[in-house]
Amino acid sequence: MRQETCCVHGAADPSHTTGAVCAPIYQSSTFTHPGVDQDTGYCYSRQQNPTREQLEKTLARLEGGTDAMAFSSGMAAIAAFMELFSPGDGIVASSDIYGGTMRLFEHISRKNGLVVSYADTSSPGALKAALTPATKAVFIETPGNPMMRVTDIAGAARLLRGAGIALAVDNTFLTPYYCRPLALGADIVVHSGTKYLGGHNDTLAGFLVTGDAALAERLRFIQKTTGAVLSPFDSFLVARGIKTLALRMERSQQNAMWLAEWLLAHRKVRAVHYAGLDSHPAIELSRRQASGFGSMISFETDSAESARAALGRVKLILYAESLGGVETLITYPLLQTHSDVPEEKRLELGITDRLLRISVGVENIDDLIEDLSQALA
Ligand SMILES: *Cc1c(COP(=O)(O)O)cnc(C)c1O
Repeated sequence: MRQETCCVHGAADPSHTTGAVCAPIYQSSTFTHPGVDQDTGYCYSRQQNPTREQLEKTLARLEGGTDAMAFSSGMAAIAAFMELFSPGDGIVASSDIYGGTMRLFEHISRKNGLVVSYADTSSPGALKAALTPATKAVFIETPGNPMMRVTDIAGAARLLRGAGIALAVDNTFLTPYYCRPLALGADIVVHSGTKYLGGHNDTLAGFLVTGDAALAERLRFIQKTTGAVLSPFDSFLVARGIKTLALRMERSQQNAMWLAEWLLAHRKVRAVHYAGLDSHPAIELSRRQASGFGSMISFETDSAESARAALGRVKLILYAESLGGVETLITYPLLQTHSDVPEEKRLELGITDRLLRISVGVENIDDLIEDLSQALA
């Protein structure tokens, strides 16, 4: 089954007896047992719920994994992943990474005794140099956030496999519609389902997906034990969002391509970071490992004043955190997504007071350009 079809039909529900085209919301915390030592396959919704299970199977299929787990947010999924490790274990993460992930690593994982370090994983040499005998996992985001640096997933997988180091890829930006990290050798795929998978800026969700049965068993144990599971209603919303994933990804990518080119030519724009531009340093790598570039753009204005003024002037484009929904959103990484990143590290990455990030939605491109044009005037 091709990805577009899988998005629409998901994983068929074998327990369907009513003929319902949409999987119903099983709003039940617990399930009766037919008799002693018997169950229906469901006992208690922290462990499993039919609505969540349907969504998890759809995601496992889309990512080409054998198991997927749905969490109450992307951060809950990443926090559960980090429970795999013990004090003293080393984790190497991309330096160009979602600010909330860095906050978890810095303030929770470190306190728990993990040794977290960062590397520019878009450079194979830098990734290799960051590994130590204690390294147990590498956590990459590609394209990275907010500088859109692209990491070679298959290259990283080759480097790590021999060393017994797990490779986790945050695939939030590209989604399985454009990129399937497990097929490229990754061990775990991470998602903020809040973004493109849900797609409507109406719910939080997170996922872990793997094709490794032993790893899946450990993660399932962590999920049912720590309990940050996705609710039946939110599972329904994300499953509903995924039905139009292919359409939304195509449309927003087309808009992003047009908008990136328009920005490049703007007199107040100094640089545009978009994985789909011919001028992106890793354009060939993106073409090899993904079937699309997504719709996340960051760009540098000529001054902090221009950046701040644009945020105040946008009308149609919404000045709000988050990404991946049908509405186009603009954010100021310095004060929002990356506000917790220390200044020195921020400047090293290029997160200045002139940098803006746009999550391009599915509106008509002319309306987006008109709005940005008056905002940057
Ligand atoms: C938003 C985001 C997260 C965190 O997900 P939440 O659903 O907000 O908890 C993790 N990774 C990336 C790339 C994100 O954009």
